[in-house]
Formats: sequence, structure tokens, C-alpha cells
Amino acid sequence: MLSDLTKRFLEYVSIDSESRSEGDFIRHLRSQLVKMGYEPAFYPASDGSDRGNLFLFLEGDKQTDPLLLMAHTDTVTPGRGIKPIVEKEYIHTDKTTILGGDDKAGVSILMELLDRLASEKTAHRPLEILFSYGEESGMNGARDAIAGSYIRSKKALVLDSMGTVGKIVRASAGASRMRATVFGKSAHTGNAISEGINAIQIAAGAISQLPLMEIDHITNANVESISSYGDPGAVTAKCTFTVSVRSGSPKRLLELKEQMTQTVRKSADDFGGSADIFWEDDYPSFEVAKDDELLVEVMRAYEDAGVAADPVYSGGASDANILNDGGIRALNLGNGTLKVHTTDENLHIRSFELLYGIVYSMVTK
Ligand SMILES: [Zn+2]
Repeated sequence: MLSDLTKRFLEYVSIDSESRSEGDFIRHLRSQLVKMGYEPAFYPASDGSDRGNLFLFLEGDKQTDPLLLMAHTDTVTPGRGIKPIVEKEYIHTDKTTILGGDDKAGVSILMELLDRLASEKTAHRPLEILFSYGEESGMNGARDAIAGSYIRSKKALVLDSMGTVGKIVRASAGASRMRATVFGKSAHTGNAISEGINAIQIAAGAISQLPLMEIDHITNANVESISSYGDPGAVTAKCTFTVSVRSGSPKRLLELKEQMTQTVRKSADDFGGSADIFWEDDYPSFEVAKDDELLVEVMRAYEDAGVAADPVYSGGASDANILNDGGIRALNLGNGTLKVHTTDENLHIRSFELLYGIVYSMVTK
């Protein structure tokens, strides 16, 4: 016997919503919300694509600060034609697609909550609900929401972490990417090779000196790409490479960026070439203190439900990184999804249903 929540999940994962194609799914949610009696605001995507943020404010009847609840509407690939299979305690697919529980588990919980609040007319705290678009394509919806400053809440629960119920992501890595282009000097290899400076050698010299792979338990770096084109018979004069760095410590991230910049410049100097270096920030890190009010409240809600709370550090990013950076304290909660971003993705039904019950009791208590 499937619960209404689980039936809702099965319905939602059957609607395709790969990143950049989540418009139809968002419209479906919007029309369901209107049928429930809500008037959701729709904020079109800032990149002009056929998607956007769905946002609701529920005034509530308690004299407390509003709480933001959030889940994202897009999925990774391959996410077309998903056929969910319920088997004992889990929901999975035939392994030709992902399941899309990331983050339709979160979306289902929030939609079921809204449906229940509307039909039961239960007293609840002031709530803001955001269904963000484009989380998988770079947390686009969360970035838009912060830029648009329509969120009043100072604290948020994001229902988008892989893991069984009880997991609480209270800290996460931040990441940056270096795009380096090093320049040498072209010269004919037949009769003037000593006048040339080889850019690939500059790049190789730099990369061999960079701190890479696992640097400490919350910091790592990876050479992502290298490319160069050389004319036959000439010393190669240009080479481009990218290196990503992530760390749970913003200070460590800054130090590494500086160290890597200096390493590339030194290699260029050593060979007599030059370097153009650009850093782009992928996403910021965050850390919510162990004695933080919101964290303590969530831990207590888990305890009341008989669930062991497990606050953790995560190496991955979510909308919670963007919210925290934008001044909204946010935790990302394990929603029962497992092995996300793979065709082995599955949902632990009991975790998912327990989280729904916990969120319901937190907002109505
Ligand atoms: Zn997700």
C-alpha cells in the first residue's frame, strides 16, 4: 500500500525535467498549486530559458520568523522516460535512466506538505517555499533568488541531500577553477629551435609543481583539461589548461589559489615566457556552527521522531551553498535518495517518508 507521498513521487519522476528542459514540470507544479488554492509567484530564469523559480509565501499563524523550505525541479541526465520500479523498501529504475529522486524527493515532500496544509487548515509557522530551477546546471535558481532578494527568511532547510534520513549537511566545500594560458615563442624547429620557447613545457613545468589530488581531508585539486595546437615544424607557442580546487575552508582555498597562481607564473618566468591566469568561483563554501539555533532545532526534531541525527561535512555543492553565501542560514537534509547522478539511483522509501513527517511536525509545532 503506497502512501500519497510516494504516489506523488512516482508521478513526478515520470515527468521529464532534465536541466534546461524543466519548464513543463514547473508548469505542472504551478497548476497543481493553483488547484490547491495557492497563488505561487513565478520568476522566469535570468538566462532567458524556458524555466524559472516557483515561490510561495504562507503567512501562517505563529509569531515566529519565517522558514524557507527548498527543493529543485531539474534533474541530471539520462533523465528522459524514467520508469520507476517499487521493490520492497526501495524505488529504482530499469537502470537505463537515473531515478530523478534528486530532487523530486524534496519536491514531493514540499508539494505533499502544501497540499496537507491547504486541506487540513492546520496552524503553522510563517513559511516560504522555493522550487528552484537549474540546481544541477550551476545552482542558477538559487543564485537568481538571492539576486532578486524576494526571500524574507533568514534560515532555510534544503531537502536535497543524498542519504538516509538523519543526515544533515551543515558544512560544504567551496570550489574555484583556474584557467591558465601560457605563452612561449614560436620558432622554426629546423634551423632556429634555440630561439623558441615551448609553451607545453611551461605548462608541464607548472603542473608538475602544483599541489594536486587529495591535499587534506577537506581540500583537493584536479587538472581538468589541457590543450594546445602546434604547427608541424614549429615550437609550440601557446598552451591552455584548467585546474579545479575545492576546500571546506575558505582560507585554505584562497591560499591554494595564490600558490597555484605563483607556481604557473614562476614556470613561465623560468622558461622566459608569460602567463594569463583567470580564476572563476564555481560556488562558495559554508559552515553552520554546531550550536546554531536552526541546527539544534532540526536535531531535536529528528530526536523526537526517533531518528539519529548525523551532521556532516560534504565535498559537493547544493543550493544551500548559495543561500548561506547570500546571508540565509541553510542546512541540506538527507532525503532518502542514494547513488544519485547514476543509473543505480534509488530511493529509500522509509527515509523519505520519515523526513516528510519531520518537516511537517517542524512547521506545525
Ligand atoms: Zn540535487
